[in-house]
Amino acid sequence: MDRRTFIENSLIAAGGAVLGSSPLVEAAADPPMIGIQVGAVSFVDEGTDKVLDNFREMASIDTLFLATFTYGRGIAGRQPRGNALPDHGKQEYDDDYHGGNFATPHPQYYRSTTIAPEKAPDHPNYDVIADVLPAARRRNMKVICWFEDVFRRDVRGLDQAVEIDLHGKPTTRTCPRNPNTRNFWLALVEDYLRSYDVDGLMWGSERQGPLNNAIGASHGGGGNPATVGCFCKYCLSAAQKMRIDADRARKGYGVLESWVTSMRGGTRPTDGAFVTFWRILVEYPEVLAWERLWNEGLRDTYRDMYRKAHEIAPSKGMGWHLWHTNSFAPFYRAEQDYAEFSKYSDFLKVVMYNNCGGPRMAEYIRNVNRTIFADLTPEQTLAVTYRVQQYGDEKPLDSISREGLSADYVRRETRRAVTGVSAKVKIWPGIDIDIPTGPKEKKTQPDDVHAAVTAAFDGGAHGVLLSRKYSEMTLANLRAAGRAVRDLKLA
Ligand SMILES: [Zn+2]
Repeated sequence: MDRRTFIENSLIAAGGAVLGSSPLVEAAADPPMIGIQVGAVSFVDEGTDKVLDNFREMASIDTLFLATFTYGRGIAGRQPRGNALPDHGKQEYDDDYHGGNFATPHPQYYRSTTIAPEKAPDHPNYDVIADVLPAARRRNMKVICWFEDVFRRDVRGLDQAVEIDLHGKPTTRTCPRNPNTRNFWLALVEDYLRSYDVDGLMWGSERQGPLNNAIGASHGGGGNPATVGCFCKYCLSAAQKMRIDADRARKGYGVLESWVTSMRGGTRPTDGAFVTFWRILVEYPEVLAWERLWNEGLRDTYRDMYRKAHEIAPSKGMGWHLWHTNSFAPFYRAEQDYAEFSKYSDFLKVVMYNNCGGPRMAEYIRNVNRTIFADLTPEQTLAVTYRVQQYGDEKPLDSISREGLSADYVRRETRRAVTGVSAKVKIWPGIDIDIPTGPKEKKTQPDDVHAAVTAAFDGGAHGVLLSRKYSEMTLANLRAAGRAVRDLKLA
């Protein structure tokens, strides 16, 4: 596929918009974005100039997504112990990883939140943006701050920002509606955009509402129905404005908790799992209303961050990382409406990790097969999931963990996203390179990366984002991304 074909495909995929409507033509005429997620530790370990030169040489990278804030290990730090270290970087485990802000927090922006802006103690005298930005500029590379909704529970002031569960107990999760949470994210937006001349921001929240959490509809843990929320004073007040009965919602979630607990304990109701689940929803529609209430809190966060970013820097992009659960759970997918996202997004990195997608899909199937789909066998649950998620012929349950999802899944998901958003929103599929999986589970190979990158552009992508972090990628797999970019004549 040459450059012209790529642009034409993009236009067709963008919904057949009229050629000559200038913003779209301009957008499509931009060279595709070839990005990589990279954390501070890689620059510290390997040297900034060397890392950037390698990115350019190995994979034609033109955009750096710097992990600037997280307490998690998914996008920052080296490989956690138990996973092989890749063939570059320091060959040592960073068991004392802590996390925080990997740039320099400027306290004046954090006056309206109790959450302490903490400089990551991992690299006390190092500011990843200050170091990388000039080196990137010299190479004509763009820099995007990439930060996510992952905290440690001991962060000072976090206790004033947490969700309250259905039994009135504080959790360790931040409430998206709590002003301390909201103002913390807005402070980070302002801090990054005012303190550094970066090219844009990307934020990710791998969270979902109380209903989805209660039934365990994700590839993460099964979800604990006893601790779902949020029932804090801010959410109660929002519910009142929306005329949702909080007592009925609490009662409904209590019934749901008993149902999930007994289903997981192996009880099979005479009327079956699905009917008795649905009965809870029709008896307590407030359960569903509370799920929407939670999502509105998160959507308001997106809207506020987008507004704030554009007030400060109208021409810089603000976009979002969309969680992998979007690929597995139709419940979560229904809440990720691309048309709705178009109102507050300049770009979307939709996670389409097809290699680890295999084991993760299998985990999702195991979770929901114990609750809402307990009437089906796991194989039937998977078959239903493939159909309702609009996938083609993906592999059966006994092999997806070992073999992963196909490149065709990447192509379909890209096309769905490009078709779903308005023409101004760029779609940059997240491509997985060496995301850790369990023993005997799918490991990324160079041909997988080549096929996934090719499929993304074939689906009409405006770029690709190599994920999750350079410090877990092997060089052969990274080079395979570069080979695909060259084969497509995109660089
Ligand atoms: Zn709340």
